[in-house]
Amino acid sequence: MGIAENINKLGLPSAVGLVAVSKFQPLEALEEAYAAGQRRFGESRPQELKAKAEVLPSDIEWHFIGHLQTNKIRMVIPYASMIESIDSAHLLEAVNEAAAAAGKTIDCLLEVHISGESSKQGFTPEEAHGIVRDSGKYPSVRIRGLMGMASLTEDEAVIRSEFRSLKALFDSLSPIEGFDTLSMGMSGDYRIAIEEGTNLVRIGTAIFGNRQ
Ligand SMILES: *Cc1c(COP(=O)(O)O)cnc(C)c1O
Repeated sequence: MGIAENINKLGLPSAVGLVAVSKFQPLEALEEAYAAGQRRFGESRPQELKAKAEVLPSDIEWHFIGHLQTNKIRMVIPYASMIESIDSAHLLEAVNEAAAAAGKTIDCLLEVHISGESSKQGFTPEEAHGIVRDSGKYPSVRIRGLMGMASLTEDEAVIRSEFRSLKALFDSLSPIEGFDTLSMGMSGDYRIAIEEGTNLVRIGTAIFGNRQ
């Protein structure tokens, strides 16, 4: 089945943006999605983002969604329009410095730890509040919202309650100017995320098939 058809089949409401998660996919797959009109792609490794961004059309909006090591920030800054995976104050500080050095202001999301899984990264809700309160410390970063990943489980009720808690946190912060992006929902759980009020989903395998 074609990529364009897969995107259509997602049935996303017009108010929900799509990050086509293209990590580990070959260039031809991204080109096919681009030809179908997709302009927002998600990558999780700095080297791969750079390599793809350098050869694909410049009107693509690249979202960095993986764990970012501070020594790789400078590889990401020139290409990413948004870093969705800010998971510590230390990383935010380092991104702010690198963006300032590059003469750029970069959009970021705070990754919030919503699942019970200790393997997942992110801020607690209290920490996210603190970061937003202190956002003046990071003038080269625009904190645009929150990103979260639900537990890897078949239990819909668990996923739903995790998404609901992230939406509630988002709503409690959204009176802040420019704080408008809630990124939750992947191939396996995006329908639940939409029901719980997401406005950005990150979908890979449902569009491109298995990663290579
Ligand atoms: C890989 C990844 C996705 C996409 O996952 P799929 O299950 O392939 O849709 C979404 N978000 C993040 C943070 C990812 O690392």
